[in-house]
Amino acid sequence: MWRRYKWFIILTAIGMIAVALFTAHHFLSPKKPVVDPAKRAFVLTSLHESQRLTQQGIAYIQQKEVVRAVDSFREAINVFPPNNQAYEFLLKIYLATGDEQKVYETLEAAGRSYPAFDQILKAVDDASLARIPMSKTEDVYIAPFRENKKTAISFMFDDGETSVYSDVMPIFDQFAYKATVSVIPSQVAAHSGDPFRGSWAQWKDAADRGFEIANHSMNHLDARKLTPDQYKTEIDDAKALIEKNTGKRVSSYVFPLDSFSEPVLRHVLQSHTAARDPAFLRLAYNMTMDIMYGGPSFSVDSANRLVDIAINRHLWLISECHGLDIHSKKSYKPLTKDFVSTHLAYIKARQDDIWVDTFSAVANYLMIRKGTQVARKDIADGRAQVVLTSGVGMNDFAVPLTVVLKVKPAVPGNISATTADGKSLKAWNCGDAQICVDVSVVGQPINVTWGQAGQ
Ligand SMILES: [Zn+2]
Repeated sequence: MWRRYKWFIILTAIGMIAVALFTAHHFLSPKKPVVDPAKRAFVLTSLHESQRLTQQGIAYIQQKEVVRAVDSFREAINVFPPNNQAYEFLLKIYLATGDEQKVYETLEAAGRSYPAFDQILKAVDDASLARIPMSKTEDVYIAPFRENKKTAISFMFDDGETSVYSDVMPIFDQFAYKATVSVIPSQVAAHSGDPFRGSWAQWKDAADRGFEIANHSMNHLDARKLTPDQYKTEIDDAKALIEKNTGKRVSSYVFPLDSFSEPVLRHVLQSHTAARDPAFLRLAYNMTMDIMYGGPSFSVDSANRLVDIAINRHLWLISECHGLDIHSKKSYKPLTKDFVSTHLAYIKARQDDIWVDTFSAVANYLMIRKGTQVARKDIADGRAQVVLTSGVGMNDFAVPLTVVLKVKPAVPGNISATTADGKSLKAWNCGDAQICVDVSVVGQPINVTWGQAGQ
């Protein structure tokens, strides 16, 4: 353990000085307005305590006490969220122990506070990721993502800022991508008179153009501090108001202030099909990464790197954004137009591997996939028969599931797929000796042929 982490511990000694200087500059810079002495004392105390916990974590690593080391680093982050070193050590430990989802959760936490995200992300290297085994697939299986893409990416713009309508959406249109905008009805310009917020006319137009308008609650309150009657009103009234103004059904709920709680989630899912909540994401898919983008220490290189990781590891990547830095009122962790267009161009160049779609579109695919099984599969040379069954009482899907068959010969041609009643289905060679078929019916045999048998 000591040998493995030796370089890291040496770097940490240097890094600690850097974090202290950065933090002192960030919080105590004399150019900034005078900091309340009580606040300054609190920051310094938190920083010292966080450094002490980090040192303790390093000592535990040397003693091979990994569980205690993890607790120390997590606590170091709790008392002082901008502590880079604690995230980097946690990432190194989770990469070494193969706790892959924990790697992404650590990045999620880093994205939510204000450490140097670019620096932290460098702790995640491809060699370490490649050592973690991927889950094995059957001969016939339902692809995790549409058209057997390697990753799905959902862009979400929270709080309904005008700049998302005026400056972000046109860039998405250029690339023919859709995003989700979560709006707070009480803050929509018509109600608040605040030009920083978009108007109902804008969100209706966005919905008409295929962007998803999600529910971000009526007043953006912490539901954990509300009575059940209060949070139900916050959720239900907001949904009704968005639907009335956009003319579209609202499918997704975005928790304000990360105010996740089980009873609230249960209420949300009575009227929504998707919720941006850790429990819901885990239910939908086994490997998700929900990162808050933007701000000065989140470069477009980091955003592109997250895309690479998502492709390699077959993740559902949720990119949480706010608005652009173009108004006098500051957006939270703002992006620039250049960031958005450069990043989308990077994604477009890898479009064979990436499914970009709204939060509800990806969530719905994953939830239907979750409730559907391959009930029968007979594969022979040149032909196969597959039957899907659904536990959720569906006979057909609005959006097809992509079924993957591992076949021989390695590069099949003359592929055809039909339902028992003769309807032809979209089927194609999807590489690596696999055939992909888009299936939207359950309980009916699907006949697939290829090679000689297909002629
Ligand atoms: Zn918000």
